[in-house]
Amino acid sequence: MDLRQMTREAEVFLLDMDGTIYLDETPIGDMKNTLQVLRRAGKKLVYFTNNSSKTAEEYENKLKRIGFWEEGDFVYTSGMATAEYLKEFYPEKSVYLVGTDVLKENFRQYGIRLTEESPDVCVLAYDTTLTYEKLKKINRYLVEGAVYIATHPDAVCPSKEVFPPDVGSFIALLKVSSGREPDVICGKPFSAMGDCILRKFSLARNKIVMVGDRLHTDIRFGVNNGFHTLLVMSGETTREIMAASPDHAEFVLDSLNDIVKYL
Ligand SMILES: [Mg+2]
Repeated sequence: MDLRQMTREAEVFLLDMDGTIYLDETPIGDMKNTLQVLRRAGKKLVYFTNNSSKTAEEYENKLKRIGFWEEGDFVYTSGMATAEYLKEFYPEKSVYLVGTDVLKENFRQYGIRLTEESPDVCVLAYDTTLTYEKLKKINRYLVEGAVYIATHPDAVCPSKEVFPPDVGSFIALLKVSSGREPDVICGKPFSAMGDCILRKFSLARNKIVMVGDRLHTDIRFGVNNGFHTLLVMSGETTREIMAASPDHAEFVLDSLNDIVKYL
């Protein structure tokens, strides 16, 4: 299949954010117009992130500020995928969540029973309010045998300054202290987040395209889930990284803005 056919037939565009549609909140080229062209062609836009420290509402507000948001767009985070995963596979179970207050509130809205003591399940999210007390607790519960779920595997979080530690770094710490590794990771590149999208839109996999700038998360996610994959060179990936990577995108563009030529 060529890019033109894929672009015309795809119905849902899963859009990574940083490096794909903006860089540190600065739109990449005329992205606002590109997104509008996609919408007018009938495509559903889903802003799709592994960052589980923020809620969909916070992202929506950020996207409004940048000027990208339109009615009918969606935000999907690894935190939401994790909440849905819990509802499906661990209903009624008690959950110890290492996460931000907004994520805790979000989990409660999903009807998840959060606890501080003797949980059935531990969830490790991108907790920018992490404390030693929380580390001690989750470590203990993991050693005691609780189910272990992480929202996503990224080692660091993209930032203007030195990249700060993200969930992947917390996972490494807990592996040393508890000997455990997550039983399930919900975010990109794994399948739980893909399953949520399939349920949400009830579409065939080949009607969905994952667009992103990272090969080992965005593109691997698309491949793992049987979606189309479009790598954009506007972020983290260079030609050198692409040549050396075991992950290969079906299509590559310098930036998502070039897609308008293929509609
Ligand atoms: Mg990115």
